[in-house]
This record gives sequence, structure tokens and C-alpha cells, in this order.
Amino acid sequence: MIDTNKIEELTELDKKHFLHPTSPIGQQQKEGPSFIFTEGNGVFLTDMKGNKLIDGMSSLWNVNIGHGREEISEVAKEQMKKLAFSSCFATFSNEPAIRLAAKLAEIAPGDLSTTFFTSGGSESNDTAYKLARHYWVLKGKPNKQKIISRTKSYHGVSMGATSATGLKPFRDFTTSIAPDFHYVDHFSTKSLRSLIEQEGPETVAAFIAEPVQGAGGVHIASDGYFQEVREICDEYDILFITDEVITGFGRTGTYFGIDHYGVTPDMMCFAKGVTSGYAQLGGVMISETLHKEFKELSTGTLLHGYTYSGHAMACAVALKNIEIIERENLVENAAVMGQEMLQGFQSLQEKHSMIGEVRALGLMGAVEIVKDKQTNERFESPLAPQVVNEAAKRGLILRSVVFDGQDTLVFAPPLIMTKEDITSLISILDETFTSVT
Ligand code: PLP
Repeated sequence: MIDTNKIEELTELDKKHFLHPTSPIGQQQKEGPSFIFTEGNGVFLTDMKGNKLIDGMSSLWNVNIGHGREEISEVAKEQMKKLAFSSCFATFSNEPAIRLAAKLAEIAPGDLSTTFFTSGGSESNDTAYKLARHYWVLKGKPNKQKIISRTKSYHGVSMGATSATGLKPFRDFTTSIAPDFHYVDHFSTKSLRSLIEQEGPETVAAFIAEPVQGAGGVHIASDGYFQEVREICDEYDILFITDEVITGFGRTGTYFGIDHYGVTPDMMCFAKGVTSGYAQLGGVMISETLHKEFKELSTGTLLHGYTYSGHAMACAVALKNIEIIERENLVENAAVMGQEMLQGFQSLQEKHSMIGEVRALGLMGAVEIVKDKQTNERFESPLAPQVVNEAAKRGLILRSVVFDGQDTLVFAPPLIMTKEDITSLISILDETFTSVT
């Protein structure tokens, strides 16, 4: 039964009282929410009007195990009844946080074996910058404070994370950013080396990169890129941080995105897929070497911590989420279904004149929209937002990326996608492209 009165009531309340994250404020004010979701089940979301859509973005790149998992709600309920939260400040601890930290050490690349917990991705990135800067102070090199990140990168919206974000509109929104942040071309190790030389390696604390850039348009680095990055960081004594907020926990068909490149960062930020969105949790993992040095060199208190660092209920949810990822082989499934999705994109590319480059790594993909395939010329105003709206009408949630002259659709469906689900996704996309040409 569709309750139109309730929809109208909620729409008005939303318009008046709810300032949405990363939202078109003016349009929101006039039209209200496009969907008020009430239910999630597997790869589907259902709204108050009874529309059922494939969640082609795993909501915000995060619902890796799909929606509506009762096992998770059971664990959350049990943990809440026992101990929802107790502070982990100073020397206090709790079992789910300890067990999760140990589990993460088991699955993370190389010798990343110690975790600082946060409530999300932005906090994780800010933590990494602060730990990196503090590390160099402890090492007696206080001038090593600069953080280098890449163009087209997205690292979140807290002050540090915004400052590191290579997508300029996010930085411009704050009008001023934190000092000592610098950017290099997102694909070029040459530009990383020359910036380090130009700034002076003795002033650079760390380089941060997403193994696959997400919000910037799903850009996949070439083979060898991160191996070279690792070498450059070692050569100049600079910490290498990976932002695995999207790419962690199976998204790209390996446990972590950096696993594709076989190198180990000094720090690794994660969030999103660690709980598949069932609770708010993130963290930074640091290498054994770094942890040892911190312990040896620190004389006082680590003056950095969030109220919810090591939240018992969130950590219990994360443990169950990881158990499900492993039990259902979702990392492998992402690799296999990612190939299916890419082949689907390629078949649409042959059929539709406005589909340019297509790419995917695991279940993280992109489709470029072009006016002319040969020259790669773009439409005067991007079509991707219209495609996203039309796809939603047909039952598929996608996102558009129009930064830096891009006209791109991005995809990140849940890791539980089946072959049939991929076929539905591709067929809705096909109909959508037919409708906009
Ligand atoms: N890093 C990356 C790569 C992200 O994609 C995001 C969010 O989309 C963040 C950091 C920020 O995470 P949060 O929104 O949880 O603060």
C-alpha cells in the first residue's frame, strides 16, 4: 500500500529540516528527495512509492555484502545488549575491537598489523596525516611535514582530507585549505619524483593515493605504477599511505586494492566496506616497523583519538561482515562478476555511439560518454547526470562524475552480484542509452 499522505509529509519535512550531504541544495529545496528508501534486500533498494532499484553503487561504494543481512542485525543487537560502547581511550579496551584489530592484521597486506580505529574515511585520512607528521617529529626530522596526493583523488571532507583531495571543487568549497598539501598528476610517477625534488625530500612526510581512484571517476593505475611509487618513497624516505576506503574488503577483486600491485604501504586507511555500511567505522593500519618505532620513540601521550575509536558494536558488526565476505567468497566473486560487468560494458560500447572508454577492476567500473568516439570529443554539457536520472527511472542506481571535463558513469554494485544481476544491470543501461540518444 502506497501511503501518499506520509510521502508528502516526509517530503515537506525533508525539504525544511534536512540538509543533505553533497547535495544540490536549490533543487532539493524545490523538489525534495527523489527517493525515500524504506527497505534493502540483497542488491535491491525499495522506496516508499514501491520502486525497486538495483543498488548499482552499493549505496556509497560501501554495502559490499548487500542489504538486509539478518546475521548482522543479530550481532549488533547482541553486542548492544551486552556492551554497545565503552571508551577505548588510554588503556581501556573491549573484545570486539581487539578481535577486529587482530583479524585485520591477518588479512591486510604485508606487515600492516596494528590498527587505529575511527568512525569513517575522512577521520582515517586525517589520522594518517597526523600520525605521519608526528612520526617525523619523533624521528628528529620535524621539517618533514608536507603531504602529497594526486589530482582526481578524493579523500573525504574533514579539513585534512579535503586538503588532500585532488578534485579542486571540494577544496574551493572551503575557500582555504590546511597548509603543506601538494598535488601531482594522478598517473605519473615522474611528476611525483619532480615535485619531491622541487620541494625537497627533507620537507615531505607522506604520499597518499587510492589504489583505484573512486569519486574522481574510477581511474585505474597502470601495472607497475605503485611499485614505482613504493621505490620513490623508499628512496626519499617518505611514508606511503594507501586510501583503501573504497577499494578495501574485496571491491576490486582482491582483498585490498593495493594487493593488485604486490606492494605494502606504510599506512593503510579503510572505512566503508569494513562494515558494509551496517555501522560507522573506519581506521588506519600501520606497519609493524612503524608501530615499533612509535613505541620506542614516544615519551608522552598519543594526543589523537575519537570518542568512537574502537566502538564495540561497530567492531562486532565488522567482524561478522568480514566473516560473511570470506564464507561467501565475495572477493573472488567480485573478480569474476567484475569481468562479466566489463564484458557487458564492452558489448554496449559496440552498440552505442556515445559510449567511449569503459573500464573496471573487480566490481568498480566506469563508462565514459563521448560525442565522438574517434576524437574523444565531449558533449558541450555532460550527459551523465541525465543518464543517471533515466537509469533510476528504469530501476538502476548509478552515479555521474563530471569533474575536470569528465562525462562519466561510475559503478560499484554489491559484491554479491550474480550473473543474472549483471545481465539486468547491463540491460537497464542499454535501454537507458537507447532512450537518451
Ligand atoms: N577516501 C575515499 C577514497 C573515499 O571514497 C571517501 C568517501 O567516499 C572517503 C575517503 C571519506 O570517507 P567518509 O565519507 O567515510 O568520511
